[in-house]
Amino acid sequence: MTVRPNVQSAILGFPRIGPKRELKAALEAHWAGRMSADDLLATTADLRARTWRKQRELGANIIPSNDFSLYDHVLDTSAMVGALPTLYGQETEQVALKTYFATARGSQGEHEATCGCGHGAAPGGEGVPAAEMTKWFDTNYHYIVPEFTENQTFRLTSTKALDEYLEAKALGIETRPVLLGPVSYLLLGKARNADFDPLSLLPQLLPVYAEVLRSLARAGATWVQMDEPCLVTDLNDEAREAYRLAYRVLTDVVPPTKVMLTTYFGGLGDNLETVLWLPIDGLHIDLTRAPEQLDAVLADARPDLVLSLGVIDGRNIWKADLNAILDRLEPVIDRGRTVILAPSCSLLHTPIDLERETTLDPEVKDWLAFAVQKIAELEILTRALNQGRESVREILDAASASVACRAASPRIHDPVVQARTADRTQMQTRRSSSFEVRRAAQVRRLNLPAWPTTTIGSFPQTPAVRKARADHGKGVIDAGAYEAFLREETARTIRWQEEIGLDVLVHGEFERNDMVQYFGEQLSGFTFTRNAWVQSYGSRCVRPPIIYGDVSRPLPMTVEWWRYAQSLTDKPMKGMLTGPVTILNWSFVRDDQPRSETCRQIAFAIRDEVLDLEAAGAPIIQIDEAALREGLPLRRSDWQAYLGWAVECFRITASGVADHTQIHTHMCYSEFNDIIRSIGEMDADVISIETSRSKMELLDAFSDYRYPAEIGPGVYDIHSPRVPAVEDISALLKAAAERLPADRLWVNPDCGLKTRSWPETEAALVNMVTAARAARA
Ligand code: GLN
Ligand code: ZN
Repeated sequence: MTVRPNVQSAILGFPRIGPKRELKAALEAHWAGRMSADDLLATTADLRARTWRKQRELGANIIPSNDFSLYDHVLDTSAMVGALPTLYGQETEQVALKTYFATARGSQGEHEATCGCGHGAAPGGEGVPAAEMTKWFDTNYHYIVPEFTENQTFRLTSTKALDEYLEAKALGIETRPVLLGPVSYLLLGKARNADFDPLSLLPQLLPVYAEVLRSLARAGATWVQMDEPCLVTDLNDEAREAYRLAYRVLTDVVPPTKVMLTTYFGGLGDNLETVLWLPIDGLHIDLTRAPEQLDAVLADARPDLVLSLGVIDGRNIWKADLNAILDRLEPVIDRGRTVILAPSCSLLHTPIDLERETTLDPEVKDWLAFAVQKIAELEILTRALNQGRESVREILDAASASVACRAASPRIHDPVVQARTADRTQMQTRRSSSFEVRRAAQVRRLNLPAWPTTTIGSFPQTPAVRKARADHGKGVIDAGAYEAFLREETARTIRWQEEIGLDVLVHGEFERNDMVQYFGEQLSGFTFTRNAWVQSYGSRCVRPPIIYGDVSRPLPMTVEWWRYAQSLTDKPMKGMLTGPVTILNWSFVRDDQPRSETCRQIAFAIRDEVLDLEAAGAPIIQIDEAALREGLPLRRSDWQAYLGWAVECFRITASGVADHTQIHTHMCYSEFNDIIRSIGEMDADVISIETSRSKMELLDAFSDYRYPAEIGPGVYDIHSPRVPAVEDISALLKAAAERLPADRLWVNPDCGLKTRSWPETEAALVNMVTAARAARA
């Protein structure tokens, strides 16, 4: 008689925003003073209850708790261990909601300044800026960066993990609480106003984690999930030693509760040996990003180590090929090891439920799986392993059929596009002349003054602009009325730019809902959803486009707007485009060919647009690559490959134009040291970057590297409503000229102005032009 395997399915985390973005609505109502804290908490408790029940209904065996967050799970961890910076408020027992949100969002101090209730007034802070936020690994989710002081102490100031475990238990649902592990937590943080390694705080931090684990053990938790995603990144010996210390201490305190150490977003690689020596009870590995690590783990893991295999892609939206996964899993099960099946990572990064998409093309819809569908896939996989494939044959066959249909669909294959990327020639990635030769031609054509002034593209997307777009979407105003409105906004903005004396103008981008969506909607191979929201940070959600097929550009996308804009002025009008790498990095990308190949296809589509703009007469074309840096792989050893094709793609877009056509690019971030060589290789004529907050120091990277082309270092921070004084801007221009030849410098803000309002935009740009004129004189 053969023993039936007992494979279980586990979920590492579920999206928090709610199927109808209930969390967003509740948070924003609370922040606006329209919902009390009690009502907010009741709403979120209801959301959690529904989430737990849904997962149980879908057949998940191991359901997480404490994966929910009111804002961010890293911030929750700081709240748990008493590490919220004191300027947001100092609490004795539990972190107050107000302090928590003040850390996340900054505090305008309205409440503190007027309530007069005494406690917390001063520390709550008037007008305290929000804590720093940054991207969670290579996702589009942003976390609040923990900040530590040198003599940081830790203590338990939030029982959220225990509370939510008990909350589920009271509903009759046994859960596996999730904690961000202590080592990743410290590695994700930074030292405030002192130079020390946050990891050195580990010995002080561990007792708080131990206390949390003990409380969960006492409450009856049989397993705890400890997320340590930093284990898939490059670690030094200190970090590895920190892992050994942390898990020796923590696994000692919690028997009989067991620790499932979860790693995701990549392979363990050179950290594998360290991990396999840890006294943990279970290990989760990501087999979608790093399928090859399965063999190494199986070969070397202790026989009693429970393995959680991340076989369903938690970072993408494609239906899985269940039979193919089973082919790989069955031999593993036969070895008799205890195995759990799971998504590769938390489902936080996927939309919630495909069933809510009622307008998607049915053929494409059949290829997709969102969080709910992925849990159902796991349930089928576990059933197939436990009871044999025959028990679920029909469902398995349907999945295979759908995967096969997608692979064969004429909708995704365009031989013309494929031929184009296959025989791309050197000619297509290289401009015909060197920068110096091009520069001479551009100087003759453009005839710009020294210190030329310009903006990055967008002008304020006012409530009126957003309303007109929404009304047009709802059919309240027709296409003609909407177009007339946009033309008027554009014309007004151009007149105003002329009046204040800007040198190179933009049309303002009023017709664009979003810098990626606007292009995706006009390219073939893209589709869009109605409700497939993914959390970006706090209450902010995005709906990434889905790239499902070969990409091409059936018709010009921006030429008519450019032509109209240029017809209103004699000043040079920039053509404005989003670059291929940014479009790729902000979309769900097809998984049936390398990302580089999809990016090349987008690049050729944008190249077509560049050439059409040039033919229409555009003297300057800006190709924004806002997200090029954020696409860097987690491991340094993978950087060169990524940068190689990313740069090539940019060059495909830009290299077809004549010498006298000036190519600009824009990148809104300020860390260039690591990638400066690649920035140079992009071979743009002008690059505008974010620099104002770094006081131009980051230009050192450009001067050390002897960056050959022209640069527009941002002279004021568009993230703040503050209007920069002329002297502030002049000081920055001076600082820039100390680092780079003045005849290579442009004058522009840090980024687009779409989030700002008109009064501050007007005042800031007038000051900017004044400062540029002073620099000329
Ligand atoms: N041209 C875009 C704008 O001005 C660039 C935005 C960005 O870089 N994020 O809005
Ligand atoms: Zn920008």
